[in-house]
Amino acid sequence: MKRNDSGILIGYNFGKERMMFLTVYKPLEASTTLRFYRAIHTRTELPPESAYYLQSLQKGYNGEKNWATYLNELPENIPILYDLQFEVNQSTIQIDALCILQNKLVLFEVKNFQGNFSVDGDKWYSPSHKEMKNPLNQIKRAEPIFHQFLKKHQLNIPFDYYLIFVHPTFILYGASHQEQLILPGQIPEFLDGLKQQTFSPQWMHTNIIDTLLTNHKNGIHLFHKPQYHFDQMEKGLFCGVCGEKMNRTHKMIFSCSGCHHPTSVNNIVLCNIQDYMTLFPERKVTTASIFEWVGGEVSANAIKKILYNNFERTGKGKSTHYIKTDK
Ligand SMILES: [Zn+2]
Repeated sequence: MKRNDSGILIGYNFGKERMMFLTVYKPLEASTTLRFYRAIHTRTELPPESAYYLQSLQKGYNGEKNWATYLNELPENIPILYDLQFEVNQSTIQIDALCILQNKLVLFEVKNFQGNFSVDGDKWYSPSHKEMKNPLNQIKRAEPIFHQFLKKHQLNIPFDYYLIFVHPTFILYGASHQEQLILPGQIPEFLDGLKQQTFSPQWMHTNIIDTLLTNHKNGIHLFHKPQYHFDQMEKGLFCGVCGEKMNRTHKMIFSCSGCHHPTSVNNIVLCNIQDYMTLFPERKVTTASIFEWVGGEVSANAIKKILYNNFERTGKGKSTHYIKTDK
């Protein structure tokens, strides 16, 4: 059993029952919202306010990735789920990371702030000395909602909720000791505590994982919806990691011109189809539309095969198109 880069565990051995089943816990990936803005940004110009929002989303995501590399040091059988969203009685909460320990859950809100911040009582100040939202209030607001969530689904397990500042240059002047607040310098000690946890999975844990995954809502949060049109967007294959253009380096491999990330034809086409579906939910997915979307970088035949293998085909003849399967 191994934890890979995104924290996915595959293959699970359930104690005495020796029952193996394949499960993939929720790995860390760019949120739908981040993907939405990035998909536009890579193909056309974003207005300044959207570009700024994209930048802050990207920065937050980088912080979460940073925290994921720390959590990968935990014993490999401890389940970790990233980026969960729940709706409870019309309130929404978003949890950056959640670990399932033997007798409790541990939730994390991750911040990637950089620079010198200060706190005075309940008031927080940014490096430019402007008063800002107290980030602790975010988890204080989320706590009762998550309690309701657990109660509603009859999950009788306590939880701790932490606010983690992952960026090494983050400094908080005037901070007094607060149980829920973890500053960069405190991360190693905090992690040591988690690393000592032993975990022997029981059905209760499977039930928790199932409940979390089935109730997760993949919402998109638009802040200034930018205008964009299919015809005005640059066509081609773009990197799913950094958004730069992909170039074919081998018959079956594309490589990113920005981050040099190599990807198989299949994966990069799927990633660009996902962008297309996110940006144009009203447009049909057809071999021809995707061929145009990827700028003819991949043959129509190859696209047809990828669509056929990964989506459900519907309609006949000229109206044939593909939709997401429920799988
Ligand atoms: Zn890239």
